[in-house]
Amino acid sequence: MNYRVLIATRTFGSTSQKPWEILTEAGCELIRADMTQELNEEWLIKHLMDVDGAIIGNVPMSAYVLENASSLKVVSMHGVGVDHVDLEAASRLGVVIANCPGTNDQAVADLTLGLMIAVARNIPNVGFELRDGVWGRHTGNELWKKTLGLIGFGRIGRGVANRALGFEMKVLVFDPFIKVEQVDLPGSTLTSFGEVLKEADFLSLHAPLNETTRNMIGEAQLATMKPSAYLINTARGGLVDEQALTKALSKGQIAGAALDVFVQEPPTNNKLLQLDNVVVTPHIGAHSEEAIERMGIMAAQNVVQTLLGGQPIHRVR
Ligand code: NAD
Repeated sequence: MNYRVLIATRTFGSTSQKPWEILTEAGCELIRADMTQELNEEWLIKHLMDVDGAIIGNVPMSAYVLENASSLKVVSMHGVGVDHVDLEAASRLGVVIANCPGTNDQAVADLTLGLMIAVARNIPNVGFELRDGVWGRHTGNELWKKTLGLIGFGRIGRGVANRALGFEMKVLVFDPFIKVEQVDLPGSTLTSFGEVLKEADFLSLHAPLNETTRNMIGEAQLATMKPSAYLINTARGGLVDEQALTKALSKGQIAGAALDVFVQEPPTNNKLLQLDNVVVTPHIGAHSEEAIERMGIMAAQNVVQTLLGGQPIHRVR
């Protein structure tokens, strides 16, 4: 039996043949989306026509899209976050939604530490200055023995805490869904949201985006942070009220921010990108060669196992 599978992510199978082989060996016919186009609903509906499965990146899977994809049986994220998928509609329509937890957390944790150092030492800006012939001086801050605040202590949050051990950081964690004994790394403590905000020298976000976490870092929360604090967001742009963050950074209410994710991606007319105390990357948290291979393999297995009548490796709905 031939299944048609849409690949709508830029990086799937870009570092290894294995994800492609899993699909083709199962008899899947692959349709590769042109990712240079804007991925709006009409585009998706057109591409999902007569397709049995899909592997997607950060593309919007609304109820309208799912309702118009009559042959679709399974969608696997090429990653972890499912905030761009209407899960209720998928359940109602019997479309299996799967993701790839545990495949990219090390890559995101690495980038988070990289961003912390980059913003604290202003690495991107001094590098650009040097290319312009300026042998400048910039005094930054150390991570050593500072307080790291983590919002979310899942795979990535824990990975960041593990890495912070090397910097002898004190780690304060807020995560309403875990128990005290799960925060078992030396120097790490589970505490309240307010305490983490107030004490953090580096506040790093690792919670999923949903209706309870949207804008969880807004004007009121930023006002309780130290003026010397840095905010790092490698989770989802929607966790932060970007206008409030722009204001806080412009008036020196906090020292800086490092952002891999934005409310609108790619960002257009986003004032955060113009601020000197902001370091940005284009949602590359998961983009290590190793993570791309692991995500690709799991996403392919999710789709194939479901189409062959079984369960995906990791089912969300
Ligand atoms: P995970 O499910 O292992 O961990 C998420 C943690 O957040 C859980 O422990 C959960 O209890 C906690 N949480 C839920 N609601 C919370 C709240 N209101 N406050 C504090 N904590 C809360 O997921 P993960 O693999 O660690 O990934 C975390 C997020 O990172 C994902 O949801 C995704 O949006 C994002 N992500 C980004 C990239 C990237 O490329 N930048 C890549 C992978 C994942």
